[in-house]
Amino acid sequence: MPLIRPEHLVPHQNVNAVSGATTIDGASSTFAIVDGRIADRNAGHTEVSIDAAGWMVLSPLADLHAHLDKAYTWSASGSPAGSLEDAVASWRAFSPSLSYDDIKTNARRQLTAAFQSGVTAMRTHVNYHEGDDSLRGIRAVVELRAEFRNVLDLQVVAMHDHTRSAELIRSAIALGVDLLGAAPHLAPDPQLELERTLRLAEEANLGVDLHTDENLNPDSLGLLELARLTKTWPKERTRSAGHCVSLAMQDPETLALVLKEAATADVSIITNPLTNLYLQGWQHPVATPRALPPLAAILAAGVTLAAGGDNVQDPFNPLGNGDMIDVVAAMVLAGHLSPRAAWDIAAAGRSLMGLQPATGAVGDAADMILVRAASVAEAVAERAPDRVVIRAGRVISVQSRSSRAVTVTPLAQPENSV
Ligand SMILES: [Zn+2]
Repeated sequence: MPLIRPEHLVPHQNVNAVSGATTIDGASSTFAIVDGRIADRNAGHTEVSIDAAGWMVLSPLADLHAHLDKAYTWSASGSPAGSLEDAVASWRAFSPSLSYDDIKTNARRQLTAAFQSGVTAMRTHVNYHEGDDSLRGIRAVVELRAEFRNVLDLQVVAMHDHTRSAELIRSAIALGVDLLGAAPHLAPDPQLELERTLRLAEEANLGVDLHTDENLNPDSLGLLELARLTKTWPKERTRSAGHCVSLAMQDPETLALVLKEAATADVSIITNPLTNLYLQGWQHPVATPRALPPLAAILAAGVTLAAGGDNVQDPFNPLGNGDMIDVVAAMVLAGHLSPRAAWDIAAAGRSLMGLQPATGAVGDAADMILVRAASVAEAVAERAPDRVVIRAGRVISVQSRSSRAVTVTPLAQPENSV
């Protein structure tokens, strides 16, 4: 049976074996895939066997904080530029005109970009929309969860603000959302909004993923309150805190206390570097804060850390694109993690979603990304233009660099050079 090079794979092919791929640790890896899982040897039928010499095999990426219902609205909403408050105001003014069909079209575009880039697990927040039928976005995205199930696992977080009634939130829950969301730090009384949200989640036996402390105020301690209020929750019930930007501004003693409480209460943190580099710090024209929580300190404290791409070309970030490799790059450049550690965090969201691991170990899900690169640093630096995405052993996307350019001919060496 001839071996196929990764660049010659085509979508829908079922891969039975991969040989000679380089792992994230630099080792050579050969493995089989049986029934969508990694196996140490194949089951006898080897229709598609890959020769992956010169390619790396990397864990698939998990985008744990998306906003599918807002995607690709930056131009339509007037190309706003500015702080979180500016973005929220722009969104409020624009979103009544956003229809169910608009939301579905835009969300579908982002989901497609995501799985083609190697994101096979995603958690998205969805707003209650302004105007008639405030559940139209949640309904649209819940439907897309089923539509895309063969290429990615999607969790839907219904994200209310303090103006939404308990009755409406219960209606959203009845649509089949996975988690409740909110942004207590934006409410007039953050503590009240936090407690109300947790009560509604408990009532429905759902977990929460809350926008938390998305500001540069060191006294914003929503993460600490979330930890205190959920530490008696059953271990398997999700409590995630997105952003946690204020951790970047706290003194070392406060930071240590907050992270210790978060670790004890099993609260996970989702960092969203692209959006927070953009949204925060507009009031600081010099020595502008990076607005990323201290990633190394979070890991050292034993808090589970995952990452999200957050906004994709919407009022909150004109530049997102759904490719988590950009998020890995930001965690290296602005978060001071190694490329290896940053990749691990961008892949870690799978476990927070309760999915089977996809680390390449025998028995793991056969979800993976093949990239033509010699190291994870090179893959991130080059944004992996040659990339194959495999989900449960099936090829779901193949992309390759395609360019045409003039040829630059080396100059003849001058005779007097040494
Ligand atoms: Zn968000």
